[in-house]
Amino acid sequence: MLSPSLEDYLEEIYRLSLIKSEIRVRDIAEKLKVSSPSVVKALRKLHNESYILYKRYEGIYLTQEGEKLGKLLVKRNSVLQEFLSVINSQCDVEAEAEAMEHYLSSPTILSIEKLVAFMKKDREILNKFLKFCGTEEKKHWSEELE
Ligand code: MN
Repeated sequence: MLSPSLEDYLEEIYRLSLIKSEIRVRDIAEKLKVSSPSVVKALRKLHNESYILYKRYEGIYLTQEGEKLGKLLVKRNSVLQEFLSVINSQCDVEAEAEAMEHYLSSPTILSIEKLVAFMKKDREILNKFLKFCGTEEKKHWSEELE
């Protein structure tokens, strides 16, 4: 099991691998807003866990295992972003999906994925839900505490 931070690194490396033939430390540093030494540290760990091949000055390559997990992590993030959109949350969708992703179990992610697919497939149900949300008076879940 990777730590949340290493999951984010692998997720980003996978994203970069889709659009770049060569992934550089500074690409990752920029994307994750961290320092280059932090990236190098993470790359060494991912290398030791066999998710990537990394040698200083020789590039960063995903192993088969790394590609598989990276793909899954990207999918998990987009499922959660879609979920937040479907439930019409007025949150910062990107930031919130980023926060949720590491703490939900696989069965929960799978259920959320099914719910999203279901809601998107049936426009009528989605509209009913949005209408219901509109008739609910509460603007904030903790309104009763205020
Ligand atoms: Mn994350």
